[in-house]
Amino acid sequence: MPADTASPTPLPWWNLLPLAGILLSIGASIAFGFPSGLLVIGAVLLLLGIWNLWSSLQIVAGDQPVTIERDAAVPSQEQEQKVFLLRALEDLEYEKSMGKIDEDDYVELRDQVRLRAKQVLGADRERLRTQAEQLVEAHLRSRQAPTASSHSKSRKSRPGKPSKSLSCSSCKTSNDPDATFCKRCGEKLTPPSPDKKGGAS
Ligand SMILES: [Zn+2]
Repeated sequence: MPADTASPTPLPWWNLLPLAGILLSIGASIAFGFPSGLLVIGAVLLLLGIWNLWSSLQIVAGDQPVTIERDAAVPSQEQEQKVFLLRALEDLEYEKSMGKIDEDDYVELRDQVRLRAKQVLGADRERLRTQAEQLVEAHLRSRQAPTASSHSKSRKSRPGKPSKSLSCSSCKTSNDPDATFCKRCGEKLTPPSPDKKGGAS
């Protein structure tokens, strides 16, 4: 693990060992001449190597506690999965709100995501499921609240299609928005296009 991604906690004393070794080597070079200094450098490097091995063995053996900061800095696979699944639920909810998927598909897909969450997360699954449910329900409630009155049985979410009734140009009968011909006189109905002006009233 690179040292510069480490936690902001103060460095342990043993992180000063390399510096001390280098200073000792320089001191030895000055005091006893260059060959002696080289010898000291070699000894210091050897000691550092042994110390490195020893400390990593300590971590593996569990003598040295693995810090919480280390766990937080590097997201575990479980955390990544959690984030991924929450995003999937959010995307699903978004697509439903856009009318890309209908209620049945939404429920099915959401249940699939939840099932996946159960499989992946083990002990954490209940909490995730509750969070996901709260998330989804909160979103749904906030989206549905303003349009609750107009949210009736006849309205299917169909983006792009006009939801108003279509008025016949010859007899003025109002027809269903997706009708092609007038139900009264049989005149071909032209759906109103956004850039077309009605001409004279
Ligand atoms: Zn008509």
